[in-house]
Amino acid sequence: MTVSEAPQSGTDLAPLKAYIGGQWVESDAQAYEDVTDSATGEVIARCPLGGRSDAERAVAAAAKAFPAWRDTPVQKRCHILFELRQRMVAAQDELAASLSREHGKTVPDAAGEVRRAIDMVEFAAGTFAHMKGESLLDISSGIDCVSHRMPLGVVAGITPFNFPMMVPMWMLPLAIALGNTFVLKPSEKDPLTIMMIARMLDEIGLPPGVLNMVTGGKELGEALCTLPDVKAVSFVGSTPVAKAVHAKASAHGKRVQALGGAKNHAVVLPDADLEKTVQALTAAAYGSAGQRCMAISAVVAVGDIGDPLVEGLAKEAANLRLGAGCRAESEMGPLITADARDRVRGYLGKGVDEGATLVVDGRQRGPQGDNTAGGHFIAPSLFDRVTTEMSIYRDEIFGPVLVVLRAKSLDEALEIVNGNAFGNGTAIFTNSGGAARRYMRECTVGMVGINVPIPVPMANFSFCGWKDSFFGSLHAHGPDAIQFYTETKVVTERWFSSDPGEGGIRKWGL
Ligand code: NAD
Repeated sequence: MTVSEAPQSGTDLAPLKAYIGGQWVESDAQAYEDVTDSATGEVIARCPLGGRSDAERAVAAAAKAFPAWRDTPVQKRCHILFELRQRMVAAQDELAASLSREHGKTVPDAAGEVRRAIDMVEFAAGTFAHMKGESLLDISSGIDCVSHRMPLGVVAGITPFNFPMMVPMWMLPLAIALGNTFVLKPSEKDPLTIMMIARMLDEIGLPPGVLNMVTGGKELGEALCTLPDVKAVSFVGSTPVAKAVHAKASAHGKRVQALGGAKNHAVVLPDADLEKTVQALTAAAYGSAGQRCMAISAVVAVGDIGDPLVEGLAKEAANLRLGAGCRAESEMGPLITADARDRVRGYLGKGVDEGATLVVDGRQRGPQGDNTAGGHFIAPSLFDRVTTEMSIYRDEIFGPVLVVLRAKSLDEALEIVNGNAFGNGTAIFTNSGGAARRYMRECTVGMVGINVPIPVPMANFSFCGWKDSFFGSLHAHGPDAIQFYTETKVVTERWFSSDPGEGGIRKWGL
């Protein structure tokens, strides 16, 4: 199959196949999830909701492939990734169009996700440098010590719907470059584009079983957390599931990194550049319809910047062009499902009941363009005068809803941010270096932007959520992930004589 053989649409579509042991095979699933074009509601694929038997087949194939893959020279493993990178670059428009269709994000946003995924492949292709161990001669008399990074074996990845390509690519390229074999369970809501990557790797000649891809939901995910041959689980998704995955997989003796949800705050100080801050916050709150784990969903306005800030944000939110992701004019697309849209609508009602001021109501405005009646659209919304007890502040809404809280000082802003359960990302907007530095040091959040609204680390740094946004000890991608996907082996060696003598090498004719 080639990349261009993207699924067609229709109601009697054949179910997607699983990729196991280098073959595209039928799932054992008895149930299916419809994958939809989020802008029209049209069904574009039927995703099997596989269970334990699919997990067992995929893990068995990965376990079988492991010894030969571990022994494949690291340079050869990296060559496959160099080739993957070339193919992804050549196909980036096609990959972005597919992402936009199954997820709903705008094409430029999807293209950014593809570029981030390519960055991950580039980082992993440098594994011959990352994988090097250490050595020390004469650690004791005539004794040398060497450490090696050894792959773990079978690693499983379970990923969310909101970055259907980038998040799996936080895991897959590095896990296999380091000599592991990999089983991926992408989100059942939008698994199509990441399957294109499996096809590319298959065409490049990745040995059978090194990568396996199976589709399903909770049952399949739980099976991957319990099967004995799985040595490590990388999970990204909502906090309740991250907690459950961390507990279950840890109880079954696996190494686990489980990334959860977020409520990312932007603190805006009175000396911030108002216009630039409004633009940055609008993009960070409503980009991808707010379905980013690093979206800014809460603003803490300090002092007298509050009123002009809310006025500026309201103007931008009300004017943002809503429409299908593939439409060139669109600045924001639909939500992933009708349920997700209805959940956001529910929060708009709750916020009003809780006493917040709904400055811009996204329920009042529909999308532009044709054929959107079945799409999952809701326009951007803005709440002001929100307090920390309200559910619209405490919960991760995961939609285009921005809430503004007011604070009198940086101290009060820090108290709000540090009192929140989540600790994924945060940003401060100010022209004061001293205030920014203090905020950076004292906030209990793992990724901090200074006049940068979405401080997502590039591939060579790790993605470092804190508090309820992360369960585990080694974070995703970058240096932490190199450690996560490898185990250290230390060799201490001594040779009794440096002179082989009569019976030594001369005897062997060397
Ligand atoms: P989700 O938690 O509903 O699902 C994530 C994945 O887990 C899916 O593949 C799903 O099928 C699987 N799953 C569901 N129940 C499971 C179980 N009991 N055991 C094992 N697997 C199970 O998340 P979602 O709605 O797909 O994604 C959105 C969420 O992901 C948001 O909360 C967002 O903040 C979060 N997210 C976090 C990050 C991060 O880096 N921290 C990145 C992206 C998304």
